[in-house]
Amino acid sequence: MITAILPTYARAPVAFECGQGVWLTDSNGERYLDLGAGIAVTVLGHANPILVGALNAQAQKLWHTSNLYQIPNQMRLAELLVDRTFADTVFFTNSGTEATECAVKMARKHFHAAGKGERVEIITFEGAFHGRSSAGIAASGGEKMVGGFGPLLPGFVKVPLNDPVALQAAISPRTAAILVEPILGEGGIIPLPHQMLRDLRALCDAEGILLILDEIQCGMGRTGRLFAHEWAGITPDIMTVGKGIGGGFPLGACLATADAASGMVAGTHGSTYGGNPLACAVGIAVMETVTAPGFLQNVVQSADHLRQGLEQIVARHPGVFAGVRGQGLMLGLICRPTPAEVVSAGYAEHLLVIPAANNAVRIMPALNITGAEIDEGLRRLDRVATRLAGHAQG
Ligand code: PLP
Repeated sequence: MITAILPTYARAPVAFECGQGVWLTDSNGERYLDLGAGIAVTVLGHANPILVGALNAQAQKLWHTSNLYQIPNQMRLAELLVDRTFADTVFFTNSGTEATECAVKMARKHFHAAGKGERVEIITFEGAFHGRSSAGIAASGGEKMVGGFGPLLPGFVKVPLNDPVALQAAISPRTAAILVEPILGEGGIIPLPHQMLRDLRALCDAEGILLILDEIQCGMGRTGRLFAHEWAGITPDIMTVGKGIGGGFPLGACLATADAASGMVAGTHGSTYGGNPLACAVGIAVMETVTAPGFLQNVVQSADHLRQGLEQIVARHPGVFAGVRGQGLMLGLICRPTPAEVVSAGYAEHLLVIPAANNAVRIMPALNITGAEIDEGLRRLDRVATRLAGHAQG
């Protein structure tokens, strides 16, 4: 017998009814400290009054018209993004994977429009995650993602993450772009060295191909800059954004330079809901808050505080945790038990953390988490480690 909901998720037996900041309350009235933010989504916490206000105000006025007409909120959000990034233009989506779709289409169309229609291949990296659409899984790879879903969308070439020779060998006259996450999220919080990002930029320039950055998980202030690539001092040609940009309201975006987007003329792409007035009202409020003076500096300070606390927990419980990696408020705790065991022990301490590949649990709280809340999270994590220490020794 199949469940009413298609059973593609192994869900924990907990349902949350309401939230406030970094706290969630379940259907039994129990409070949980949320250090996962719905997988890096609720960047300003749950039920943030600014976002609730923006959504309610728009909900009273107009929900939907269609992209057949001008959408002032969409224009305003696009301008905010263009002002604050490398991009000249933005296409709005409802999710991250749709942003991946747009990026892949845009890269191919760019070369088609330039008379180089043979350039269709996108190079991606092993362990990457770019979404669950047909292009998304072809870009990501991995048996769990692609097994049984073939034939896969052709034109994706996978190389190991730290193998410049394999990367160079994968580039051919058929290459259109390199697609990469500056920090692998689902892959286990693996930050690319800033020099590697600079090398990728230089390689793309030398080969005349496009650099596409997937900042769906690591973007929107999570690393302490608006976008993670800023730390490396480079810019992409195309960038995908999702998750945090809507603060919990479904919204994604594909940003691009005018040159990269040169093929995307009227009729080449679309979305019924993409850039909808409600989503963009929230997106504007998120952008205005995250780019307000001092906000990102505060993220850096909170991140230092959190990281130091995590390092201390690792030092106290070397049998349970092996280290910390990541940047800003996108941190991975490397576990000796399975990530699933750590997540389960977290439930027992009313603490939410998120599993990932490569033995990591992700700590990715709301970006406006307070110092006191970080301390409370660290106390709970310490108790999680104590629970697991007995188990690890036994
Ligand atoms: N790319 C990255 C780096 C992600 O982390 C995710 C989601 O986890 C996606 C793409 C897909 O986004 P969505 O689940 O919104 O389609």
